[in-house]
Amino acid sequence: STTGIQGKVVAITGASSGIGEATAVLLAERGASVVLGARRTDRLDALVRRIRADGGRATALAVDVTRRADLEALVQRAVDEFGRLDVLVGNAGISRLSPIGDLDVGGWQAMIDVNLNGVLSGITAALPVFRRQGEGHLVTTVSTSGLKIVPTQALYAGTKNAVRTLLEGLRQESTDGVLRTTSVSPGYVRTELVDSMDMPPEVREEVQRNMAELGIAPEAVARTIAFAIEQPRDVEIGEIVVRPTRQN
Ligand code: NDP
Repeated sequence: STTGIQGKVVAITGASSGIGEATAVLLAERGASVVLGARRTDRLDALVRRIRADGGRATALAVDVTRRADLEALVQRAVDEFGRLDVLVGNAGISRLSPIGDLDVGGWQAMIDVNLNGVLSGITAALPVFRRQGEGHLVTTVSTSGLKIVPTQALYAGTKNAVRTLLEGLRQESTDGVLRTTSVSPGYVRTELVDSMDMPPEVREEVQRNMAELGIAPEAVARTIAFAIEQPRDVEIGEIVVRPTRQN
């Protein structure tokens, strides 16, 4: 299982909605075995049923990415159920937008815990398995927020850019050909993220308008992730930006 998607084992965090869910569906359609993690297990169970009904292979477990043991369990589930782990998609994320001067300390900590520490825990859980196999691929969902910093989004952008930096460092430390790393930076994507975003009312209005007018379907990001995964083993797609054509 070095080229293509067929037969690969892919674990996805934040698979209960949006980009993670669309990625699970697409990869399973293309013959991957998917291992799905998130907190809302009712949603995951429904997704597993849907994928299996369509002839795909899927399993799910409760994963809170702020708990390191849950990431270890996600990786272990892949190995137990499907024999290996080819790809970890570190996709779980939350968005707490506010001016830094508002000192929303609780929101900051939560966002750093999920978006940065959560990805880091996934990496530390997956790396030993990748090394043992002699092969593995880390994919993360970062953001165009990290490429164009705007007011209220600095810390969200910072968590995403910290993840990009981590993956670039890992890439430089892994030139033995074992590990591939990919950071996918989506722009506005129509998902539940906007509903769960904690932000000032005037920002909410603008973000919701942009999302409604410009937002692309999560399947667009799923196709982008699939493109990175299906490359032959000697080809690494390091970074991809996928945004609405009309996004500024
Ligand atoms: P959704 O809100 O639809 O999905 C977020 C996912 O993250 C859910 O499955 C949620 O599952 C999961 N999640 C949140 N907190 C945790 C946690 N503590 N442990 C495990 N899972 C968690 O939004 P998107 O699909 O849009 O978001 C996916 C990723 O894409 C995020 O990292 C986001 O920052 C990024 N992104 C999104 C953009 C957009 O415009 N939508 C743009 C750029 C990046 P549950 O609540 O069940 O745990």
